[in-house]
Amino acid sequence: MTEKDTELRVSKIRDGTVIDHVSAGEALHVLAILGIDGSGGESVSVGMNVPSETMGHKDIVKVEGREMSEAELDVLSLIAPDATVNIVRDYEVAEKTQIEPPEQVTGLLTCPNRHCITNAGEPVATRFDVIDDGVRCAYCETIVREDITDHLAV
Ligand SMILES: [Zn+2]
Repeated sequence: MTEKDTELRVSKIRDGTVIDHVSAGEALHVLAILGIDGSGGESVSVGMNVPSETMGHKDIVKVEGREMSEAELDVLSLIAPDATVNIVRDYEVAEKTQIEPPEQVTGLLTCPNRHCITNAGEPVATRFDVIDDGVRCAYCETIVREDITDHLAV
């Protein structure tokens, strides 16, 4: 299958989001970021290890009736830096975004440090600075390198 065939196939949702060029094996993490576990009734298609001309293999996630927020894109960029996000409206790609890691992510991750002020029941939104190999809590400087998706606040 060529890349073009794949793009034709993924364009067939009516309204929603197609997240393409996700690193092979990361599709389920993408669903976790979107807070989708099937219980919400969304129509979701996941392609895993789809042949890709540019990546060898890749994952694709299609979600009907859902667009991604800026904050979700920020976290997505941490685990799938090469992903492209296509917003589909009425079967056409309305917006195509190449995501870029932000300098900070706010509100979407929880701090693993139990003593961090963000875990103290205060009305403080979590804030993490993006560093080369992970993220660092802006309050207590705890660093999360791996399993970022284990710390999703959603
Ligand atoms: Zn912290």
